[in-house]
Amino acid sequence: MVSQFEIAVFEGDGIGPEITRPTLDILNALATDAGDYGFTFVSAAAGAAHYAKTGEALPAASMKIARRSDAILLSAMGLPSVRYADGTEISPQIEIRKALDLYAGVRPVRILPGQRTPLKLEGGQPVDFVLIRESTEGLFHTQGCGEVEQDEARETLRITRHTSEKLFRFAFDLAQKRKASGLGAGRVTCVDKANVFRAFAFFREIFDGEAKAFPDIVADHAYVDATALWMVEKPWVFDVMVTENMFGDILSDLGAGLMGGLGMAPSADIGDENAVFQPCHGSAPDIATQGIANPFAMLLSGAMMLDWLGTKHNNPAMVRDAKSLERAVDRVVADGVKTTRDLGGTATTQEAAAAVLNALRASR
Ligand code: ATP
Repeated sequence: MVSQFEIAVFEGDGIGPEITRPTLDILNALATDAGDYGFTFVSAAAGAAHYAKTGEALPAASMKIARRSDAILLSAMGLPSVRYADGTEISPQIEIRKALDLYAGVRPVRILPGQRTPLKLEGGQPVDFVLIRESTEGLFHTQGCGEVEQDEARETLRITRHTSEKLFRFAFDLAQKRKASGLGAGRVTCVDKANVFRAFAFFREIFDGEAKAFPDIVADHAYVDATALWMVEKPWVFDVMVTENMFGDILSDLGAGLMGGLGMAPSADIGDENAVFQPCHGSAPDIATQGIANPFAMLLSGAMMLDWLGTKHNNPAMVRDAKSLERAVDRVVADGVKTTRDLGGTATTQEAAAAVLNALRASR
C-alpha cells in the first residue's frame, strides 16, 4: 500500500518559487521510484508579496493547510522593501513556529571534502555537527511588541522550564540517534551565557537535570562567545549543541558561513506534532527571477523532511531516500561542475537541480 503524505508548500518570496519547483520535482521523482510513498503538495499563500497585495501576511486558510498537513515545506519569506508600519519585516515563518510550537530548530553544519569553506581544515577533520536552536521563545519572545519610548527601548528574554525540558530531551535524543549511526561522539553542549544572566543559569540548570536521563551521552556547557570562536577554530569538536533562540539565530548563520554560504544550509523546525523544513537563507531578492539561486539548501531541507516523515511513520524507504538525496547533493558539490555562482560555479538553478537528480539515479 502506498503511504500518501500531504505537504503544505509555502513558495514564499524572492527566489522561493525558483528553488521550490525543482525540490518538489525531485521529491516526486523519489516517491515514484520508491513506489510505496507519495506526496500531495498543497500550495499555501503567505509572505511579503502576498501582504503587499492583500494586506495579510499569513492568511488563516494557509495556517489551516499548515496545521492539518503531514509536514510543511517552506522556501523563504520576507522582502526588505515590504514592511509593517513599525518598520519590521514580514516574517510569517516566525509566526508559524510560534503557532505550531515548533520549539526545536535543527541546523546541521557539515563540511565535506571538496566543499568551499573559509576554514583551513588541515588534517582533513570532518566537520559534522548539529545546532539546535530553541525557536519559540528566548529573545524573540517580545517580537513585534517590544517597548519603544523616546530615549529607551526594551525587549524581554523568556525561558520556560516546559519548553527547555522538551528542547533538551530533543537534543539528547538526537545525540543518541547520531551516536547509534556512527555520526557523532554522543555529546550535547549547552550554549549559554550563564556567567552573566540569571535566565541562562536557569536554562543550564534545566539542561543538567535532563542530562541525568541520558547517562550514555556526555553533557557539557560552553559560553556563546567562546562557542563562536571554537566554531571557527576547531568546529570538529562539536556533536550536538543546543541554545536559546537569538544565540541560535546568530550561530546558525556562522555555521552556514563555515559551509560556504547560506545556499548550503538546510534547517528544520520541529514540534511534537508538526514540522517546517526550510533553507536557512532568506528570499535573496538581489538575485530573484534570474534563475541562478542555489537550490541545494532547499533540497537538503527536503531530505530532512523525508527523514523526519520516514522515522515518524516507520517508512524505511523514505529514510533511505533522505540519505540518498543528501549524498546526491554532496556528490554534485564535491564535483564542483554543476554548482551555482555562490559556490563558484556557473550552473543555473535548474541545471544544479538536474545534476542532483542525475546523481540520484546514477546511484541506483
Ligand atoms: P533573512 O533576513 O530573510 O534571513 P538575509 O537578509 O539574511 O535574509 P538572504 O536573503 O539570505 O538575506 O541573502 C543574503 C545573501 O545571500 C544575498 O546576497 C543573497 O543573494 C545570497 N543568497 C541567499 N540565498 C541564496 C541562494 N539560495 N543562492 C544563492 N545566493 C543566495
